Amino acid sequence: MSLFDLTGKVAIVTGGNGGIGLGMAGGLADAGAKVVLAGRNQAKGDAAAATLGRGAVFIAADVTQKAQCLELVAQTVATFGRLDILINNAGIAVRKNPEDYTEEEWHRVMDTNMTSAFLCSQAAYPAMVQAGGGKIINIGSVMSQMAAPHAAPYATSKGAIVQFTRAIATAWAKDNIQANSVLPGWIDTELTVAARTQVPGLNESILARTPAGRWGVPEDLAGIAVFLASRASDFVTGAAIPCDGGFLIRS
Ligand code: NDP
Repeated sequence: MSLFDLTGKVAIVTGGNGGIGLGMAGGLADAGAKVVLAGRNQAKGDAAAATLGRGAVFIAADVTQKAQCLELVAQTVATFGRLDILINNAGIAVRKNPEDYTEEEWHRVMDTNMTSAFLCSQAAYPAMVQAGGGKIINIGSVMSQMAAPHAAPYATSKGAIVQFTRAIATAWAKDNIQANSVLPGWIDTELTVAARTQVPGLNESILARTPAGRWGVPEDLAGIAVFLASRASDFVTGAAIPCDGGFLIRS
């Protein structure tokens, strides 16, 4: 059996109805997993599940809401019988100067990017214990390690997700659950299209700083997702792995 084979495994990808989430979901499905895409937009979710095929389903869930996270896991287990893999990928950004954020905006970014990972991981834990182990993959960012003037809550949430990942990796190792975070670089998605087109010079500075010489595409995240979801990574836990074309190592 291939080290990377996911046949018989069941995965939830939050924010899986588009962008990076859908790119990673494609990798998991290619490796044989049954995939649940979660998000709020039903029409976008149904279209994404149809595009993915191979038995993928969309389950509507706002992952900032504890009851909906519990229901997402319950529906997944009811549909596919188990849960082995959780990718906490749902995320948003609000670009402003720190002095201009409202309290609501601060909490919305933190709840969507960080608290959702806590709520979904907590909801998934009993099902993973039941399955004899599991894989939790939390999506950070290069902003987990860097900062930018217009990203106070975003960078805070992405730094916190690395520490949250390390905490659950230490707590749940006894349950054969590995938890790791992935730090994407600049990926061409709906999240970045506005900044890419509206912030003068951003596109050029990203191209200049990225040793790979290009923006990433969602499919660039598929390989790391399969690695961290498969038995190939059974001795890898608590790590924060960049997937950024070399962006973070460039001085
Ligand atoms: P997209 O905007 O394309 O996708 C974000 C997804 O999150 C959507 O599918 C959205 O679905 C979902 N989502 C947002 N809020 C919620 C919520 N409350 N409940 C459930 N789902 C939600 O962005 P990306 O694909 O670019 O981003 C994916 C992740 O990657 C994010 O965590 C982002 O921070 C991270 N990232 C992205 C980078 C990039 O350059 N693009 C770089 C580094 C990290 P719906 O609207 O249906 O709810």
